[in-house]
Amino acid sequence: MTQIPTPEAPAPEPPAPDLATEVLIAGAGPTGLMLALWLTRLGVRVRIADPKSGPVQETRAIAVQARTLEFYDQLGLGAEAMTRGRHFAAINLFVRGQWRGRVDLRGVGTDLTPHPYLYILTQDQNEKLLVDHLATLGVEVDWQTTVNGFTQDDESVTATLEHAGNSAEVQAQYIAGCDGATSAVRHMLNIPLSGGTYGQRFYVADVTLSGKVRADDVNLAMGASRFLAFFPMPQPGRHRVVGQLPDQLGEDIDFEQVRGQIEEDGLALVEQLHWFSSYRVHHRVADHFRRGRAFILGDAGHVHTPVGGQGMNTGLGDASNLAWKLAQAVRGRPAALATYEAERRPFALSLVNTTDRVFTAVVSSSPLARWLRLSVMPNVLPRLSRLRAMRRLLFLTVSQTRLHYPDSLLSVGQAGRVKGGVRLPWVQNEHGSNFDALRSLRWQLHVYGVPTPELLTWSGRHDLPLHVFPSSREAAHAGLADSAIYLVRPDGYVGLALPRFNTATLDAYVGHWLA
Ligand SMILES: Cc1cc2nc3c(=O)[nH]c(=O)nc-3n(C[C@H](O)[C@H](O)[C@H](O)COP(=O)(O)OP(=O)(O)OC[C@H]3O[C@@H](n4cnc5c(N)ncnc54)[C@H](O)[C@@H]3O)c2cc1C
Repeated sequence: MTQIPTPEAPAPEPPAPDLATEVLIAGAGPTGLMLALWLTRLGVRVRIADPKSGPVQETRAIAVQARTLEFYDQLGLGAEAMTRGRHFAAINLFVRGQWRGRVDLRGVGTDLTPHPYLYILTQDQNEKLLVDHLATLGVEVDWQTTVNGFTQDDESVTATLEHAGNSAEVQAQYIAGCDGATSAVRHMLNIPLSGGTYGQRFYVADVTLSGKVRADDVNLAMGASRFLAFFPMPQPGRHRVVGQLPDQLGEDIDFEQVRGQIEEDGLALVEQLHWFSSYRVHHRVADHFRRGRAFILGDAGHVHTPVGGQGMNTGLGDASNLAWKLAQAVRGRPAALATYEAERRPFALSLVNTTDRVFTAVVSSSPLARWLRLSVMPNVLPRLSRLRAMRRLLFLTVSQTRLHYPDSLLSVGQAGRVKGGVRLPWVQNEHGSNFDALRSLRWQLHVYGVPTPELLTWSGRHDLPLHVFPSSREAAHAGLADSAIYLVRPDGYVGLALPRFNTATLDAYVGHWLA
């Protein structure tokens, strides 16, 4: 008998040997893609690998905060982001199916940011936006490729990439672990993810629904044994529902087991289910964000509850913080790298603590918590929310525009009310705003008033762009002192704030951090 040979499948291509990579990124979720985009725009050669076959298909995180949109503007994708998502204006409160009040968030941040609203742009949309933009810059993700291990010495990192059963070594100057909550990079570095896991389990359901929930707002629904949140989604009529699973349900859950909870009290009627998933929530922060030439960012470094829609945004913020420091290091100026962990880990810790407190109050089944939820909050919240100061505080916190780095070594001085370490206050002018200058992604000097001749000469000598804006009521209102000097970092935070020209201070700062 003759055996007819079956045609052999072509051998999969091994990952290309690569000696030109400057930064290797493990993970092409939102954090890794954002880092790749920043670095590419800063002229750094990156390689980005992910075992998935493309961007996520599920919605997962759904909101982008104002600070993220500001970073998107800097990177040139803000306008595109604004065509893909949708705004929402307010938060409604329902108790036992009855509408009890509305917190209107419109207009609260109009003098704070070019994006004074809450914006829905789901995780899959964010990933697609970033992948599309990277492709226009000639960077393709190595999909179906896993970072399996790495070693590092004083000079470089050597990592093993695996693709379709083949492995290859990649050498890079630095490695960034953006590989999510179960991060292989973090494990390889032996860094614990300290914290805990909540006992309760939760579900997310993307549904088309009708009923009392208001289509264009976020809706919070409280009952004796439930707390539900409904978020409007970019597709008309669609909502994301987040709720707590009843304790008695087993591990294998399907949507029909929670439908009754969503439809209770006639609040909503689910007409179509698009996606359903259940999960446990953790509150953990890695003990370190850096070891030598390896860094961890995003969910690899911190995981917390979805309260306030901060998870994905914090990863995008980590990437924006680290990227320019890595770019400087690759060009032989590594000093600022030491500030990444010092700036981002305290923020992650405070975020985990804050979201933990809110979350525990909201889901607790104790009699006190139930009384607060059903009797106190519905009366107090609508009254508090009428106070503009309260709404402003809520917006500032959730939007991450208040996040600053007061204790960082990079943060020096004060001029007016603006200290080193704060996000540069946003000031509109007749041609646009002071944020337009941030699109260069460079260190830069800002003066709101008249620069001295010494500063003009000094900025030219150090090749630092000097942006002069007219002194104005808006600048003064934002706390910027007339004719003071602000040295602004590539990520839009004030590094050095000087009331008046001082060569020694400027030279020392630039000599240490930039030169
Ligand atoms: C069901 C669900 C609902 C959520 N809802 C919200 C929400 O409403 N609001 C919110 O803010 N957040 C939410 N989150 C959290 C949000 O999805 C994360 O905070 C966000 O995805 C973090 O982005 P990341 O890029 O850091 O990590 P990830 O998105 O986890 O990306 C990590 C990437 O690394 C890849 N990877 C893993 N191992 C390796 C390896 N060895 N080598 C290379 N690549 C690797 C993975 O394939 C993945 O693509 C939700 C998450 C889930 C699962």
